[in-house]
Amino acid sequence: MEIENLCKKIRKKAFERKEPKTPEQVGVSWYNDDLTYDGVAKTLFIILPTPGCAWALGDSGGCTMCSYVSDCTLEPIDTPTILKIFNDHLSRYPIAEEDKISVKLFASGSFLNPYELPRDARDEILTTLANMDNVSEIIVESRPEYVKEEYLDEIFEIIGNKLFEVSIGLETYDDYTRLKKINKGFTSKDFENAVTTMQKLRKTKGYNLKSKAYIFVKPILVSEKQAIDEAIETANWCSLIGVDRLSFCPATIHSRTVIERFWRKGVYQPPWIWSCIEIINTVRQTLDIPALLDTSGFGSRRGPYNCKKCNKDLKHMIIRHNLTQDIIEYDCECKNEWFGEINNSDMNKSTTKIKHITLY
Ligand code: SF4
Ligand SMILES: [Zn+2]
Repeated sequence: MEIENLCKKIRKKAFERKEPKTPEQVGVSWYNDDLTYDGVAKTLFIILPTPGCAWALGDSGGCTMCSYVSDCTLEPIDTPTILKIFNDHLSRYPIAEEDKISVKLFASGSFLNPYELPRDARDEILTTLANMDNVSEIIVESRPEYVKEEYLDEIFEIIGNKLFEVSIGLETYDDYTRLKKINKGFTSKDFENAVTTMQKLRKTKGYNLKSKAYIFVKPILVSEKQAIDEAIETANWCSLIGVDRLSFCPATIHSRTVIERFWRKGVYQPPWIWSCIEIINTVRQTLDIPALLDTSGFGSRRGPYNCKKCNKDLKHMIIRHNLTQDIIEYDCECKNEWFGEINNSDMNKSTTKIKHITLY
């Protein structure tokens, strides 16, 4: 498949040009307010050291927009090192002061894949969190193929009745976009099966298990208008199959990826911030499901953009409204330019910002 070959080629070059990181360099953490299932609460985010996403390390070359694997060690890491780094980050924050906190464990790939995070390290980390009474939620990320009853049984044996959310990068409900433009390698059916497995375990075994879908806004070869429509339709589909939460991830240009190649050649542009607002407002008005909008890279050269006057204001507003789930109301003169683009994108199918040429 052409897209796979391109991904592989670009990924290979990325690995040749960049030294793998040490486990200590991979481990990163931060601590702030976030929307939990129980309202706004302090949340600890930890990026665990891992060799990197198996999908990107394998034969597929990984997804067209993602370079997380380049920030990993590329080699397996021994359990004592993983645990030392985890405990070090855990001890940096005044967690004991809080009644309730949420912990998000990122593995730059799949937390549930034992190759990426060895089982003994996973179990030790979960045991530590299970013993902390004020940890009420544990959130992880995984591809759907690792959402297995066996793994979830092992996890719930340790964490008891704590809430456990598995976030999956569905990206879009459209198989053609996901397979051919993102190179994700799984179908909507695979995603749905993972969600159904979790729903079944919630029902039959009483696990406090939740699912979240990441929805990618504006893959390559998609116009601004299509990107808006597809993200909203994806949210509707997720709601229909019973996904518990949504998180929209507008495109940013990661280094040494297919999306960067397109962007450098001038055939791709990240979405307007107005498009992201249109999506989140529509979803919040029409669906009864918490929806978050990631603001990474907003207003930067490689991220979603509006104009210099409103980029920053909107970024801060979106972060605040993620906590309250309110609609975002704001105006700026650049909105007309965005309107012009989305209203005409069906006509010229452009995936980049349309240049207005003065004819007279
Ligand atoms: S988006 Fe997820 S599955 Fe795709 S390469 Fe990145 S970490 Fe792996
Ligand atoms: Zn503006």
